[in-house]
Amino acid sequence: MARRLTKAEREFLTKAHYRRLWGQKHLVRPALVTEVFGDGKKLVCLTPTAHRPNYYVVQVDSSWELDNFASGENFCDHLDDIYDAIEEQFGRSIDHFDDCPEDCDGSGKCYQGFPGLSADDGSS
Ligand SMILES: [Zn+2]
Repeated sequence: MARRLTKAEREFLTKAHYRRLWGQKHLVRPALVTEVFGDGKKLVCLTPTAHRPNYYVVQVDSSWELDNFASGENFCDHLDDIYDAIEEQFGRSIDHFDDCPEDCDGSGKCYQGFPGLSADDGSS
């Protein structure tokens, strides 16, 4: 049975707060992934490089190793499934210049950032 977060835990984990990136303060609001992987007893902050310092909070199996080179089951082996769950929940990040839809009016309104997913540059 997968561990379910309480309302208070969800509120705490998604609370807006300041984080630093390259010396600059950024207000971030973490995005909680609703799909739970395995027993859900390990919480992971997943930061796509393109969205730093924003991050997703993912509940994964307590046996999953975060060290990519550990023996046994590794978090990184499940990364594609996690990306799929994020994209299903939040959609994809759209960059006005790189991924404009065909009906873009040129105003930049097509832009959609975090929590839409952009994982092309990897994650930490
Ligand atoms: Zn556009």
